[in-house]
Amino acid sequence: MNVEKIILKPKKTKGSGKLRVCGYARVSTEADEQKTSFDEQVMHYSRTIEANPEWEYAGVYADYGITGTSADKRPEFQRMIKDCEEGRINLILTKSISRFARNTLECLTYVRKLNDMGVHIIFESNHIDTRTAFSEMLLTVLAAFAQEESRSISENTIWGIRKRFEEGVTRWCRLYGYEKNENGEYQIVPEEAAVVQKIFWLYEHGLSAREICAYLGEKGIASPQGKPKWSTSAVGHLLANERYAGDILLQKTFVENHITHKPVRNDSTEVPSFYIENHHTPIITRRQFERCRKIAEMRMSHGEKMGKRTCNQYPAAEKLRCPYCGSVLYQRSIPSLPHHAAGWCCEKGGDACRGFIMRSALMEEALLEAYRRLDPEKVEGKAGSPRFGKAAALTLEIKKEYPEMASVEYWWVDDLIDHIEFGAHSRTELEIRRLAALGEDAADDRTMKVFWKCGLITTVHSGVVTGKDHPASIAEVHWRGVERELMKQEGETA
Ligand SMILES: [Zn+2]
Repeated sequence: MNVEKIILKPKKTKGSGKLRVCGYARVSTEADEQKTSFDEQVMHYSRTIEANPEWEYAGVYADYGITGTSADKRPEFQRMIKDCEEGRINLILTKSISRFARNTLECLTYVRKLNDMGVHIIFESNHIDTRTAFSEMLLTVLAAFAQEESRSISENTIWGIRKRFEEGVTRWCRLYGYEKNENGEYQIVPEEAAVVQKIFWLYEHGLSAREICAYLGEKGIASPQGKPKWSTSAVGHLLANERYAGDILLQKTFVENHITHKPVRNDSTEVPSFYIENHHTPIITRRQFERCRKIAEMRMSHGEKMGKRTCNQYPAAEKLRCPYCGSVLYQRSIPSLPHHAAGWCCEKGGDACRGFIMRSALMEEALLEAYRRLDPEKVEGKAGSPRFGKAAALTLEIKKEYPEMASVEYWWVDDLIDHIEFGAHSRTELEIRRLAALGEDAADDRTMKVFWKCGLITTVHSGVVTGKDHPASIAEVHWRGVERELMKQEGETA
C-alpha cells in the first residue's frame, strides 16, 4: 500500500501576543506595468495586515520572475524562509499556490517545512489557510497530482480540485458517536461515544463481535440505525474505523482523470492514499484501536469468520521458544490429551525437541502468574533506561490499570512480552523418582522464564503438577501414538 502518513500538529492556542504577518508577492516580468503591480501588492498586504488587530506587520517580500521559477532562484523567497527560521514570522499571506511555488510539490515541501517551524500560510485566492486541518488535507490531495505534474497546474485546475474535495469532505455520512457542528468539525455525541468505548473495551477483553451484539441487545442499546439489534458487521465496521481514534484515511475520493474528468477509484497504486493523524477529537485511544485491529487480524486468520472462537488459544504464538533448539513453538491439538487439548511443541528439532510438549492451559496459568508477580517498582526502575524506557512506561500503565489479568489475551501479551523460554523439562516424574532412589542428581529445570519487553525477567514454575501433565510424559505418549499410527499405515500399504 502506498499510504502517505501525515501527522497534524496540535493547533496553537490564541492569545499569546500578536501574530507577526508578512506578505509574499511575485511580480511577472512579462507585465508592462510591473512597478505599479509591485506597489499595488505591497500596499495590499500592508493594508490587509494592519487592518487586523491581532496581526503585526512583518514586511512584504517580492520576487520578479516569470511563472514557473523554482524557489531556489527567488532571492526574496529565500530571505523570507530564513526569517521564518529565525522566528520573525508566524504567518505568510500570498495570493495563490501558483504565485507561491512553481508547482504543488514545491508548494507542499515549503508548507510542511514552514508548518514544522510553526509558520502558516494563507493562500488568498485559493481560500486555503494552512492553520486548519482541512487545508492540510487539500494540499496533500494536491500532492497526488503533483506526481505527474509535467504541466503547470492552472488556478482553474486547483479550483476544480478544491471544489470536488469540498464536496467529498462535506458529504457527511453519519458516523455513530459523532455529529458535525456548524463549522463542519467532528463533535462527540457523549451517549454514543460511551457505547463506542464499551464496544472497543469488550473486544479487547476477548469478546467476539457476535458476543458484543448479544451484550448490546441485552442492555437495550439500539443500533446506529435505531434498530433493537446490532449486526456483527456493524460492530466489525465500528472496530475497524480509524476515525474513532481521531484519524482519517483518505483514499477513495479525489482521484480523477484530468483529460476525461471521469472519476477513478484509487487503489493506492497510482497515487498515494493519505492517512491523517489527529484530525479530530478521538473517542478511544490510538493504542486501543491498534490493539483491537491486531486482535481482529488474528481472529481473521484463525477463522472467526467461520464461527470458530480460537483466538484465546493463540495470543502467545511466536513468543514461546523450544527449550532445546530455541525455535518458535507451534500449537496443535494433542490427541493423547483429554479432549484433544492444545499443546505447544517444536516442529524444527530432533529427538530432544520431541521430548517436550507443553499443555496450553498450563502455560497460560504460568503466564498469568508471571504477570501477577511483575513488580511495578522494578518496572519503574527501568523507566530511565534508553533501551527499555518506552516499554517500561507502557508496562507500568497497563499494570496500573490491570494489577492482574484474568486471561491471556493477545493485546497485553504483545504489548508486554518479548519472548518466553522454558527450562529443559527433560525428565518425567518416574525418571526423577528412579534417579533419586539411585542417589543420583535428579534436578530438573521446570521453569518458564518470561522476558518482558521492559527488560525484566520473571521466572515461574511452569505449572507442571502431576506426572501426566509433564511435558516429557505428554510428548512420550503423543509420539508413541504417532509411531503406532505410522506403523499401521505402513502395514496397510504393504
Ligand atoms: Zn526444538
